[in-house]
Amino acid sequence: MRALVVTPGVKDSIRLEDLERPTPASSQALLRVREIGICGTDLDINQGFYGQAPPGSNYLVTGHESLATVESIQGSSRGVSKGDLVVPTVRRPDTCINCLSGESDMCLTGNYREHGIKGLHGFGSDYAVSDVDFLVKVPSELADVAVLLEPMSVAEKGVFQAFKIQERMIWKPKRALILGAGPVGLLTTYLLRLKGLEVVVTATRAKDSAKAQLAQRAGAAYVNTSEQPLQSLGKFDLVMEETGVAEVAMQATRMLNTNGIMCFLGIYSSTEAPENIGDFYKDVVLGNKTFFGSVNANIRYFRIGLKDFTEIENRFEGVLCDTISARISPEEFRKAYTPTKDNIKTVIRFGN
Ligand SMILES: [Zn+2]
Repeated sequence: MRALVVTPGVKDSIRLEDLERPTPASSQALLRVREIGICGTDLDINQGFYGQAPPGSNYLVTGHESLATVESIQGSSRGVSKGDLVVPTVRRPDTCINCLSGESDMCLTGNYREHGIKGLHGFGSDYAVSDVDFLVKVPSELADVAVLLEPMSVAEKGVFQAFKIQERMIWKPKRALILGAGPVGLLTTYLLRLKGLEVVVTATRAKDSAKAQLAQRAGAAYVNTSEQPLQSLGKFDLVMEETGVAEVAMQATRMLNTNGIMCFLGIYSSTEAPENIGDFYKDVVLGNKTFFGSVNANIRYFRIGLKDFTEIENRFEGVLCDTISARISPEEFRKAYTPTKDNIKTVIRFGN
C-alpha cells in the first residue's frame, strides 16, 4: 500500500513508500483511509523538529487528521461497524489518572502516544489501524468536511475550557478576538459565531483573501494587521491566540476586558520579552483576568465538533467545504508540504 512516511529528526525526509498493509490487533479496527489533512504539525515533523517512530521502526507514517471507512472490525464495537465512515482521534492514553478518566488531552506524564506524531504510525496510508474505542462515527452528510474534525476538536476544547473556567462568575461575553486565520482559527470563528459572539479575526492576509472571505461569510470582521494595528481594535472578553507568534500573543494580553479570558493554542519559539511585567500583573489582578493554555482534544470534543459541523453547515452554508482549499493525490504530496499563500487546508485523498 502507499504510505507517506518520514524519518523522525531528519529534515525534509517526507516520501511516498510502498508498505505492507498493517494487521489490526483484536482491540483495533482496520481502516481504509479516504483522506488526511496536512497541518503545521506535519510540516514541523518534516522539518525534523519532532516526531517519534513506533518502537522497532525507523520511520513514521505521517498524518493525524483523517477520515476513513472501517474495512474490518470485530463484531459491532461501540456502535461502529464495517463500512462506517469514521474519524479516529489522535492521542492514545497512558496510565495516569487523567488518561484513565478519559482525559488523555490532560495527560500528566507526557507518556501518551499520538498517531502520526509520537510512537504510533499515522493515517497517511491506504490502510491504517486504530483502537476501536477512539473512533468517531461520521454521518454520510458530513463526508465532504469531516476530515476537518481533528482541527475542529482543538477549537472546541479551547472554547469549551474557556467557558468552563469562566463559570467562576457571571460572565456574558460579547466580543471575541481570534488571532490567526489558519484552519483552527477559522473553525474557532465559525464556532464562536454559532455562540452568538461578535468576532474579530486578525491575520496578515489581504481583506479579499480566501481566509478573510471565509471569516466574513460566517459574520465575523476580518482585520489585516499589516494595515491596521492590533491595539486599535479595542478590548475583548475572550481572546483565542492561534498564531503561535509570541510577539502577537504578548500584545494581545493587554486587550482583555475586565473579567476576560485568553486561551493560548500556538506553539511558541523562545522570545525575550522587554515588557513592564509589573504593570501587566497589576492589570491581571485588578481585572480578574485569566490566561490558559490548551493542547490536543479528547474524543468528547470530536463528538461536540461533529454536532457543531451540522449547525455550521446550516448557518453558514459552504464555509466548511471552502476551508479545504485543495484536494490532491498521494503522489502530489510535495504540494501539501510547500504551501502557497492562498493555501488554507490541503487534503490528500487516498481513496473513496
Ligand atoms: Zn496520561
